[in-house]
Formats: sequence, structure tokens, C-alpha cells
Amino acid sequence: MIDTHCHLEMDEFEGDRDEVLTRAAEAGVKYIINAGSDREANLRGLELSTRYPNVYSAVGIHPHDAKYLDRSLLIELKRWSDRPKVVAVGEIGLDYHYLHSTKGVQVEAFIKQIALAREVDLPIIIHSREAKKDTVRILKEEASEVPGVLHCFSGDMEMAKEAMGLGFYISIAGPVTFKNVKDLREIAGFIPDDFLLIETDAPYLAPVPMRGKRNEPSFLTHTAQVIADARGISISDLARITTLNAMRLFKIGEVSERGEIAYRIRDSLYLNITNRCTNRCGFCVKSRTSYVKGHNLRLEKEPSAQQIIKAINDPKAYKEIVFCGIGEPLLRLDVVKKVSAWVKENGGKVRINTNGQGNLIHGKDILPELRGLVDCISVSLDAEDSKKYEKLCKPSIKGSFEGVLSFIREAVQVIPSVKATIVKIPGVDVEKCRKIAEELGVEFRVREFDIVG
Ligand code: SF4
Repeated sequence: MIDTHCHLEMDEFEGDRDEVLTRAAEAGVKYIINAGSDREANLRGLELSTRYPNVYSAVGIHPHDAKYLDRSLLIELKRWSDRPKVVAVGEIGLDYHYLHSTKGVQVEAFIKQIALAREVDLPIIIHSREAKKDTVRILKEEASEVPGVLHCFSGDMEMAKEAMGLGFYISIAGPVTFKNVKDLREIAGFIPDDFLLIETDAPYLAPVPMRGKRNEPSFLTHTAQVIADARGISISDLARITTLNAMRLFKIGEVSERGEIAYRIRDSLYLNITNRCTNRCGFCVKSRTSYVKGHNLRLEKEPSAQQIIKAINDPKAYKEIVFCGIGEPLLRLDVVKKVSAWVKENGGKVRINTNGQGNLIHGKDILPELRGLVDCISVSLDAEDSKKYEKLCKPSIKGSFEGVLSFIREAVQVIPSVKATIVKIPGVDVEKCRKIAEELGVEFRVREFDIVG
């Protein structure tokens, strides 16, 4: 995990900083970003990033200290931003709670530091407290093309959506674990994978069950667990997703460019055997990213059955083995059959997630060939009629919607469990789709838009 925001330079850590960092590493916190606040804190933070290999720095003047941001301090910030382990400008922004600096002065300092970030090509770490309207306005007007994150997010869903619409990440801290913050847990559950970061903001805001104590980076695991629960994923899924996001935003470490063949989500193993598809769905994850739950799925080359089997290793180690990825697995029917047979022989369970065009692709009824090899098949129905299906999925094969319906009908005869799914998109008639599934005699599932895996 990466703790994307803390203040290790503070006096609170004077007596045991080394131990704090050891505990962080033991808890799986690989990197820590120390955020700047006033001039002194920036200097101390820079010194820590020189001393400790896993500590990085952000340099910036906190809104409380905005009144001290004069020309010479701005020049210093620019000079510091050139240092090799400085990964962001921050924390900067607006805090209308205490008003240690007037609103006008805070706005001016915020805008100047956004301009600095643009000039030095670094992302911004934004502090926003009781200043939603001005924060969003300034980000809209001044921060186009400047990436960044709203740290220790305390806004509402509307603000989260607006910020993500502008391309900003949302970072969730310890308060998500507090009993009285149901809304924040809802936001933490809702933020799409591509926009989520985590942090401690240590020494402040220790998460439950450490609430009231001095916070430290090792406590990130408590916050991560609550967010993972809110999203229905495991803590290792959450760690992978947020680490990848932090690495990409702050350009820390090497992000793997190699597509994965087999990737774990929760307790299932997913197989990514092709990136090709007979549809071009507007909502397809691959139209905007190569990543699903932090796994890179952009294949350079389609793997052979042997390579897939090697990547699975032990099918019994998982709840199920799922052909999925960011392409249509049944385009590679022979490979699916070979791998499924091996999984079944070795005590595993097989599911296929498909667009239901297997019969159309191969010009024959392929379902009897899957008998005994597949335990469950999940077919994307995606629309209530052919016209809507064509519009949403842009299939390359004529008569696809009817083909999907007849595929489901035949699957029921051969595969023990068959599901029809749709993605919740405005314009899709969920009830009509549910009725179609009922008439076909299969389970029905509505998937959230933008939530894959
Ligand atoms: S059917 Fe699935 S893989 Fe193919 S384009 Fe649509 S969403 Fe993407």
C-alpha cells in the first residue's frame, strides 16, 4: 500500500520515527508521501525524503499558512519541486473552517500553487474543508490538465462526482472508519477503481480501533479494510488498486506494462485470454483503461492453453476459475475447452463470462461442446431489444441480440447455472430485461456501471 498523505516531520514523531517506519513496512505500507504545510514543515519533510528511501515529499503551503506565501517562498517551492523525490505540490487548497488566512488570501495562494504545479509538471494534493463551491470552481477554472487528488475527502457525493469529472482522484482517510460517517463509507464504496487513493493524514485522524491515539502509517490497514468492505472486495484487491493509482499519479516506482493472463479478485481467479471482441460496447472498460482492479489486462500476445494452465497453477486454490478479461473468451473456443477440461480434472470450478455470441462467431451450436466442462455461464444481455443492443454494443455480427437470446435458451439445457446480466446505464429498461431473463428461466443480475470485477 501507499500512504499518500501524512506529516511524518511533525514533533509527534520525534521520539520514534524509525520505529514508526519499521511498523509501516511490516504492515505492508511500501511508500509514504509526506505532505508540506508551512515553510519549516516543507524543509523537514524534504530532509526525511532524503534520509528514508520509502518516503517521498510533496511541497506546498497549506491554506492555513497562505498568508505567508510571498514571492520568495514561491521561488523556494519551485526550487524544492526540482528535487528527485518530490512527487507533488501540496497540500494546497482552501480551509474555511478556521480561517487562519482570509478567504481571499487562500484563493490567491491556491491559484498560484496550481500554476506552479503546471509549470513544474507535478500533480497537486488538495485540502478542501467547508469550501466545496470555491474549490470546485477553482479546479474547473485553473487546474485543467493538472492532475491531482482531493486528500482526506470530507465532501459529499456531488463534490466527489464533480472532482472525478475533472479527472481528480479522491483519497479516503481514517474518518471512513468512524461510526457516524455513513455517507463517507457510501462514497468510499462508490468511487470507481481508477479514482481511489488511501491515506492516513497522520498524526491526525487515527482510524477505529486506534481512534484518539496518534495516527501513523501502519494504521492504514484499518482504513483499507473498511473501504474494502464497503466495496465488497478483499483488502489485497484494495491495496493493489490504490497502489497502482498512487504509482501512476505520483510517478513512484515502475508500473508493469505486461498484461496478466490470470488475475485474482477476491477469492476467484480470472483468465484474460484475448482482448478481441465482436462488440464495441460504449461502456467497455477497455475503451478507457487497461486495468481492472489494479491488474493490467492489455495483452501483447494471446496466451496458449499451456501458458494459461501454468498461470492457474492450482485450480482448487480458488472459489472458481473465470474466463473473463477484456475480450470475448469464446472467440478462442478450443483454448477454453482445453483449459476448462484441465480445471475440472484438477478439482476446480469453471465460469465463463461471455457476450453470448459464441454460436454466431463459430457458425454452429457450441454449447454441447461445453457440457461437463463449465459450471456456470454469465451472458451479457445488455438491453431489452435489438435496437438498443445495436446502439449500446455496436456488434460486428448481424442479428446479435437474437443470437444472444437463443444462446441463453440453449445454455439452460447444457450448463448447470446460467445468468443474464446487464450494466446499469441510463436508457436501459431494467424491468424489461429482468422479464426477459425470467422468461428464459435464468438468473438476472444488474451490474453497476464502471465497476468491473
Ligand atoms: S462484450 Fe464485453 S469485452 Fe466485448 S466490448 Fe462489450 S464489454 Fe467489452
